[in-house]
Amino acid sequence: MAIWIVAENCKGCGLCVKACPYGGVVVEDKVARLTERCTHCGACIEACQLDAIGCDVEDQAPPDFSEYRDVWVFAETAGDRLHPVSLELLGEATRLAGAAANGQRVCAVLVGDGVEPLAADLIAHGADVVHVAEHGELRSYRTLPYARVLARLVADHKPSIFLMGATPLGRDLAPRLSRRLDLGLTADCTELELDPENGGLCQTRPAFGGNILATIVSPRSRPQMATVRPGVMVARAADPARRGEIVRHPVSLELGDLVVRVLSRTEVARQQVELGRARIVVAGGRGMGGREGFERLAALAQALGAEVGGTRVTVEEGWLPPERQIGQTGQSVRPELYIACGISGAIQHRAGILGSRYIVAINRDRTAPIFEIADYALVGDVHQIVPALAEACQRAARGREA
Ligand SMILES: Cc1cc2nc3c(=O)[nH]c(=O)nc-3n(C[C@H](O)[C@H](O)[C@H](O)COP(=O)(O)OP(=O)(O)OC[C@H]3O[C@@H](n4cnc5c(N)ncnc54)[C@H](O)[C@@H]3O)c2cc1C
Repeated sequence: MAIWIVAENCKGCGLCVKACPYGGVVVEDKVARLTERCTHCGACIEACQLDAIGCDVEDQAPPDFSEYRDVWVFAETAGDRLHPVSLELLGEATRLAGAAANGQRVCAVLVGDGVEPLAADLIAHGADVVHVAEHGELRSYRTLPYARVLARLVADHKPSIFLMGATPLGRDLAPRLSRRLDLGLTADCTELELDPENGGLCQTRPAFGGNILATIVSPRSRPQMATVRPGVMVARAADPARRGEIVRHPVSLELGDLVVRVLSRTEVARQQVELGRARIVVAGGRGMGGREGFERLAALAQALGAEVGGTRVTVEEGWLPPERQIGQTGQSVRPELYIACGISGAIQHRAGILGSRYIVAINRDRTAPIFEIADYALVGDVHQIVPALAEACQRAARGREA
């Protein structure tokens, strides 16, 4: 797309400068000028109220999407179980389908070999329909056959929304699928909402290194595809009495889909950290000062029956293992109680803790951004407050036992 300034219409108001996230437009002598940083994204065109920015893309009427309906969830499996993210996405799909104006159904897609028994769990967690595609060649995940099966199902059934987990598998499969179907894909969404005006899916995710939250829409393609990381959405409680439909689909693969063969599988032993499911999380940041600080944090966590987590800085410093990082590039948590100790509250960290019920923040800087989202703010030195809290909790626990 080419963009240009229509100088005779421009009054130098600067709305385009504010709208441009790249510094791609400046105002000089009361006229806008595009700089070499312009990426032709078109944000300035939408902002301009004077028709002072031209482009060579003609306004097109929105395509007719009336055939597209229902909210689909890819039901990822892990061994012979459902991956928890599948149930979390079903919870979100149920909420979205309920909010839609035109009665959408929630559908899950199960792909594999011998996976049909998992359909009951999907129905109990909110699926109205479970599409099952089984084949011996689908036993182990491989990109090409899975992409073929899903692309066929989507093309035949035309869902309006298609959600997948931003797991290693989802991150491999979703882009492949979106390319095959020529669709947009918004990865790592932290929030999904329906536009009240047109019912389109507003997909919010961190952008520009996590410094802003961008809301992305797909006005020209269906289904609207998004991935969401595990732990971000909430699964509904299972209702074994729910009834749903199971639809079996024949699978036809081509030789080219099977060029990759799985020769063996090796399970890598990793310490199981259930941060995403913890009721209480005690997290530390740079302010904890080092491993010794984290030992104090661990004492507090033990007294509270909590899990320990931390910011990316603390992982980079080697004070915590990577699986305990919380935030945009770490885990998302949604505990009843989140205690942030010596954490500034950078947006990338906040992205992982917004589902927490209560946030307690301890920081010696009363202007730290973490206090903007904290329910309780303790201004002071973590090296004094954390041990004092741990001792108080231990005393309380002893009191309960006595
Ligand atoms: C693409 C990208 C992805 C990222 N992903 C993540 C992510 O997933 N998770 C994440 O956490 N970060 C992430 N970051 C990094 C993030 O931007 C911040 O740098 C990081 O969260 C800051 O960590 P911190 O709060 O521990 O350190 P700092 O920002 O340095 O804050 C330390 C805080 O401790 C306080 N403090 C110091 N000493 C004491 C004391 N004695 N008592 C009380 N308070 C004290 C200070 O006042 C300060 O507020 C990412 C960054 C980028 C660019």
